[in-house]
Amino acid sequence: MRNKKCLMMLSPLEMPTHPYASVPQLVTWLRANGRPTDALDLNLEFFWWLIEKNEEKSLFAAAWEELKDLNAREKLAGEEAWRFASLYRIFQFLDYLSLVPDKAFFEKGKYRSLYLMTANMFPPLAVPLKKDGANESISYEYATVKYRGDANYASSASLVASIEKGSILDEFFEDFLSKRILHEDYLFVGISVPFFSQCEPAMRLARAIKRMNPGVHICLGGNYVGLHLSHTENPDVFKYIDSLSVGDGEIPLLELGGELESPCPDMGRVSGLVYLEGGKVRRNPRGSFVPLDQIPVPDEIFDRSRYFNPAGDSFIRIRFSEGCSWGRCAFCNLAGCGLFPLQRPDENKMFEKIRTLVNRGEKILYLGDDESDIDALERFAKRVIAEGLVFKWETNIRFSPGVTLEWAMLMRQAGCNGLAIGLENYDDRLLRHIEKGTSVALIDQCLENLAWAGVPVMAYMMVGLPTESEEEARRSFGRLIEKVRGGYIKSVFYSLYAVSRDSPIDRNPGKYGVTLPPQDPELDLRPGYGVFEHSGMSHKKAVELQLEFTEKIAEVNATLHFTEKQGQYLFVKEGSPRSAENAPVPGMISWQGESLTLRGDAEGISLKTYDPGALTKLRIIKDQEISLDG
Ligand code: SF4
Repeated sequence: MRNKKCLMMLSPLEMPTHPYASVPQLVTWLRANGRPTDALDLNLEFFWWLIEKNEEKSLFAAAWEELKDLNAREKLAGEEAWRFASLYRIFQFLDYLSLVPDKAFFEKGKYRSLYLMTANMFPPLAVPLKKDGANESISYEYATVKYRGDANYASSASLVASIEKGSILDEFFEDFLSKRILHEDYLFVGISVPFFSQCEPAMRLARAIKRMNPGVHICLGGNYVGLHLSHTENPDVFKYIDSLSVGDGEIPLLELGGELESPCPDMGRVSGLVYLEGGKVRRNPRGSFVPLDQIPVPDEIFDRSRYFNPAGDSFIRIRFSEGCSWGRCAFCNLAGCGLFPLQRPDENKMFEKIRTLVNRGEKILYLGDDESDIDALERFAKRVIAEGLVFKWETNIRFSPGVTLEWAMLMRQAGCNGLAIGLENYDDRLLRHIEKGTSVALIDQCLENLAWAGVPVMAYMMVGLPTESEEEARRSFGRLIEKVRGGYIKSVFYSLYAVSRDSPIDRNPGKYGVTLPPQDPELDLRPGYGVFEHSGMSHKKAVELQLEFTEKIAEVNATLHFTEKQGQYLFVKEGSPRSAENAPVPGMISWQGESLTLRGDAEGISLKTYDPGALTKLRIIKDQEISLDG
């Protein structure tokens, strides 16, 4: 039979706020090209399953006690700070729920909505993650959810061994899949694995599917597969997986369907496919890709009302371009890995896509470009304004002389809601050393223009760069924190530098003053090098500085953002003179004997204001004073 149905899946575990873009895009493409395709977001379904499973357990009492305990401490260590921030967010959302009439869950005596929100905020509260001695956890880290089991994600042998141990995920897959796929006769199942923490769950998922339907072809694809898993020579990886797809999936998946339906299937004809043949791992060369402007606007594949997105963040992510026109930063593997060729598609066609989405009712879009071209953004913004399209959008750019005040004001006028920019380091010597193509003077000028225009900036920073001394790192941080204090930078993500495979530093370490250690042969999935020799600070010092800087930024953010906006979420004690005098009380939360009342002005909250990093050092105030622990 020709044109049998296939199934595309997103694997747990990631934030369940929106579906990762790959599956809606591929499903739309496959259907448009004559391949009937079903879709499942197993990530979302996992959270729903947890909610159902845990509905009757009283997990929040313990959470409240823990929050109070952390709140009472003088100082929080790194892990405790994250825990505090996560717990705080849960109760922040309790406030939110009590303001929305149809979510008055306390009155109904059912905690469903609460679990729904909490699963988004901090899954461990809803997850009894201890099954058959498995060592697994789910944590909330800087706006992402991370799953960790026993496996080392850089080792195929470790991944293969790990999935044979029990996990709560197995229980979910058995429960859920038995209802959903046991009776379907799919030609193949594609599983998307964008991030490393989805790899072990995806391999478990493949095993669960094979147990129910041994004949179905299972293909894993996505960034983690292309960059890491596909490099394996370990045949055991293919025990439950039939193939791995490297690079964009549009053409390979059509080819795979064709081969599987052919009377003489030949996997050797599927471009970019990695599979087992005669006990050996075979790799097909990659073929052509479909240009971005020929990829259709993704259909509404999944029911968005089931996603945990109370803040109304962007649901649709679309790329306006791919790759980077600079492509020279010494730490970046974008150009070197070969998976992301530079694409600057037809702007008219791309604009029509945006128009289609806005006409469809999208109010906020995330343009997930690796580096949006400044001039292209200018043309885009002018057209948005000229044609009266009303929507908010965010994207990634480089600091460049083109970021003038006029340019920044145009962005703001056209609905730009934020720009993420790789600042990396605030020191001219290091900017030159990593070949960033920017300078302190240029960064300052761009930040000034963006601040005047009111465009929020999210900055990426790194510490522990090759040859970077502690003194330089502190100087760089000092400049940065002044910009955060001054309101030039809204949020910062400070990461610890590690040498990425295929980056210029990996390919020519000596040029950058780096000596790489020999790679452990067990780690066959091409991890980077977290530890390396150079003349700068030790790895241990870099780890310490990363924590220190992150914590200090959180303190400043808390002061700046929390007092202005998020402060509206603060609890005040019921009956305290200031709350009674100054504010009508819109709602009350009674929690295990604690009566806490919302501030009177809480109804005016903007749900876009929360920032987990900003909450790290916040203290809940139970008397009338609202202050922050510095
Ligand atoms: S870090 Fe950013 S600007 Fe530098 S090469 Fe990579 S994508 Fe381009």
